Amino acid sequence: MKLKKLLFAGLILSLFSSTLAAQESIPRPKLVVGLMVDQMRWDYLYRFYDRYGDGGFKRLLNDGFSCENTYIPYVPTYTAIGHSTVYTGSVPAIHGIAGNDFIIQQTGQRMYCTQDNAVTGVGTEGTAGQQSPRNLLTSTITDQLKLATNFRSKVIGIAIKDRGGILPAGHFADAAYWFEGSSGNWISSTFYMQKLPGWVQDFNARKLAEKYLSQEWNTLYPIDTYVQSVEDDNSYEATFRGEQAPVFPKKLDALVKDNGLGLISTTPFGNTLTLDLAKAAVQHEQLGRNRHGVPDFLCVSLSSTDYVGHQFSVNAIEVEDMYLRLDAELEAFFAYLDKTVGKGQYTLFLTADHGASHNPLFFMDKRGNAGYFDERNALAGLNALLKEQFGQEKIIRSLMNYQVHLDYDVIRSNDLDEEDIKEAAIRFLRTMEGVAFVVDMEKAGSSSIPGRIRERIANGYNPRRSGCIQIILDPQWYSGSPRSRGTTHGTWASYDAHIPLVWMGWGIPHGKTNRVTHMTDIASTVAALLRIEEPNGNIGSPIMEVLDH
Ligand code: ZN
Ligand code: ZN
Repeated sequence: MKLKKLLFAGLILSLFSSTLAAQESIPRPKLVVGLMVDQMRWDYLYRFYDRYGDGGFKRLLNDGFSCENTYIPYVPTYTAIGHSTVYTGSVPAIHGIAGNDFIIQQTGQRMYCTQDNAVTGVGTEGTAGQQSPRNLLTSTITDQLKLATNFRSKVIGIAIKDRGGILPAGHFADAAYWFEGSSGNWISSTFYMQKLPGWVQDFNARKLAEKYLSQEWNTLYPIDTYVQSVEDDNSYEATFRGEQAPVFPKKLDALVKDNGLGLISTTPFGNTLTLDLAKAAVQHEQLGRNRHGVPDFLCVSLSSTDYVGHQFSVNAIEVEDMYLRLDAELEAFFAYLDKTVGKGQYTLFLTADHGASHNPLFFMDKRGNAGYFDERNALAGLNALLKEQFGQEKIIRSLMNYQVHLDYDVIRSNDLDEEDIKEAAIRFLRTMEGVAFVVDMEKAGSSSIPGRIRERIANGYNPRRSGCIQIILDPQWYSGSPRSRGTTHGTWASYDAHIPLVWMGWGIPHGKTNRVTHMTDIASTVAALLRIEEPNGNIGSPIMEVLDH
């Protein structure tokens, strides 16, 4: 009898303990925050380091883990592709986002990366809301988190640029919000919801864009302390509409009349506004509160760094000032996450979708080699030559994304030889100044160019959406009209392709590596941290230094 009782008690005990074991949850962070800083070059971490505070970029570097040599493994290096690649671990050849705009090669239809005419805007009457991730062909790490938790995790994407919020948040997102310059409101689309949640309506009602634009943009510190930048009034910077010279202080309250509320995008206050909304999302959507015992994912992209960079270029006081301000904003944002989600309870990574070049004129004035490749001239010349040889007008549709796009309608209906046309076009382009290589996409693998460039061409080539010929310019040359101000990005060179990648928080050791890693490695590293399946088009590898400790 006693023995039976004992056995019975033991059975109960073992059942009880196995139940306990089953309930022990997988160690995971409560929240993942993916922070993309649009157009942030890797060297901005150090270029302005001396003037950063302790709680922003320096906290990332001094507490977190920095992958110092992270590169973009494809061309062209544009915003939509960068955001897609970080979150899919994949490249245009596979994920299909072949540019901010690309051409459906079969039909010749031009497509904006997140354009979706099947949906309508939410929170807007305009067309700015007709957006979704439908053109993205593979899953994102955020999609995978949804799949792994039976859709119990919450996923939200936020950015001034539609593509900056939509592509990271993926296909199964609860919401993506982007900024409509004409109204000053944050909007979404019927892909996600039928109407804006109350907290977003309340946020819009605060009219923060108007409020932020009622002030001046002056330098945070005395202007003569900006020793990392060229003098304020120079010929490399572009002006705002209605502005005489690109100088401080910038009277935003006056400029808004000519530029509309979209002006905020090209000021540091666009970052303020975006992080305000991110904090509101954490608060009202209860992100990282472990509601169902599963992590949530917040994707934030700061677009103003790109707008300001384009207008003023790399060496401007405007850019230096923006990063000093952003540093303070990040400190406040991290402190907010510490307070609401808990220090060490969330994992955060900061990276960029691409870097930026120096302004070519600036480079030439310093006696460096640089230049502008005039796409419009090249296109006209190319079509004139092909007309002479093949008897048809406009055989080349466009030179977009450093690629040649043929008009297949013209070629088919006139029974022209595509190979002959390609050969003639390549021969012509090779004679142009500033052109380093011209490569037939189908033969990229066997072309005699450095391996690093060859691989990036192949990764960037999506036959259905990319042009059939790739143009690679000399370093520090970019596509633009001669003497154009500001800057841009898009090439394979390090200034465009070397990006910051810093991790912080739950599961992240302190340290750094100079081993070469790639933008495509981010998603599988997050997958490993979260113990979920990697995205379905992933070609990257987990970064072991971040995981093994
Ligand atoms: Zn960008
Ligand atoms: Zn840009």
